[in-house]
Amino acid sequence: MLIKCPECQEIMREVKTSSNYGIPIVIEQCEKCGGLWFDDDELYRTKLGMAHEIESKLNVEKLRKISDFKEKNLFCPKDNTKLEVLEDKYFPMAAIIEFCPKCNGFWFNRGEFIEFQNSRRKKIIEREEEKIKKIEAQELDKELNKKVMGIMRLYHDLGEEKRKAKEKKNIETIFYIIWMLLRMLLIKK
Ligand SMILES: [Zn+2]
Ligand SMILES: [Zn+2]
Repeated sequence: MLIKCPECQEIMREVKTSSNYGIPIVIEQCEKCGGLWFDDDELYRTKLGMAHEIESKLNVEKLRKISDFKEKNLFCPKDNTKLEVLEDKYFPMAAIIEFCPKCNGFWFNRGEFIEFQNSRRKKIIEREEEKIKKIEAQELDKELNKKVMGIMRLYHDLGEEKRKAKEKKNIETIFYIIWMLLRMLLIKK
């Protein structure tokens, strides 16, 4: 299906790209302004790092400049619904990303998709680092636990030894008394 750029009303061209698992994805690109249109989940499925490749296909010299973008109302190229500015803390703040509330399509100005993918990659790296930190903390806990248990065991063993020593002394004392009594008896005879 051919769709028109919401910005310049030019018919957009199809750009073949792929998902992280190599599944083909076709997105629309406007050759005049460099804007990109993504249907529904295509945005999140597009392989990270593809943004550079997609935007490098543009003929930069032929591109027109987009002026007063913020004041302009844009409409969905599929169902003509008014596009809304996406407010999401996970999206890069510098980029103004618009989406269609009806079909969930996304509109990116030239360069914004690169920003979007860069910020996603950063998020993924942060998440991985967090995971590693968590694992390391758990390892540290285990190590500490082992040390504490070792010390506890040592204290326990020491206590045991002391008790044994005391018992030994008590037995020795009893034997000594018995021996003394026997000795006294023997001496009397
Ligand atoms: Zn355009
Ligand atoms: Zn729509």
